Amino acid sequence: MSLDVFSVTRQAELLDTTTIKEQEIQDAVTQILTALGEDPDREGLLRTPMRVAEMFKELLAGYREDPVALINDALFEVTYDEMVLVRDIEFYSLCEHHILPFIGRAHVAYIPNGRVLGLSKIPRVVDMFARRLQIQERMTRQIADFLDTVLSPGGVAVVVEGLHLCSMMRGVKKHDARMTTSAMLGMFRSNLATRQEFLDNISRGANPMMY
Ligand code: ZN
Repeated sequence: MSLDVFSVTRQAELLDTTTIKEQEIQDAVTQILTALGEDPDREGLLRTPMRVAEMFKELLAGYREDPVALINDALFEVTYDEMVLVRDIEFYSLCEHHILPFIGRAHVAYIPNGRVLGLSKIPRVVDMFARRLQIQERMTRQIADFLDTVLSPGGVAVVVEGLHLCSMMRGVKKHDARMTTSAMLGMFRSNLATRQEFLDNISRGANPMMY
């Protein structure tokens, strides 16, 4: 099955740099600690710059994931044309305004048009876009656009429910901390019944967010 490697890679919106400059992050963290009036040499903080650099490497790995390798061996040709739905995909992201976590669940559906993606890959795609400095609206859209590019399906739907620690911790109105965003493409946009089937499916038996 042919995959347009160029358009898939472009759709993944990767960064140009292939490596994170860990030493520079460590130095910057030391500087922040000092600027805060802390003593970066006290025992509890000694290894903090190193830990923070490691943490960013892990939490922001999505910029450097190879999207073609991610999906290439998991595309299958099928004649199935009913909705494929994966709900309650946990995600952990960082808001780009405060570099604080927003976390929650994503629900992803598509209508196959000759090909499907292995089920375990959908959470990996969510992860690829979550592990970046993000805003929830863009992340939602990127997941939808990426699957649209890879699968050329009849439609894609993505709903993301997120809880934003920058709202909760910074003492603005706490009820603003939860946000729901959605992206509807193809039949999910044009066909009310398809969209409603998806929305009914993700709300049926839904657990309220645990947080
Ligand atoms: Zn924020």
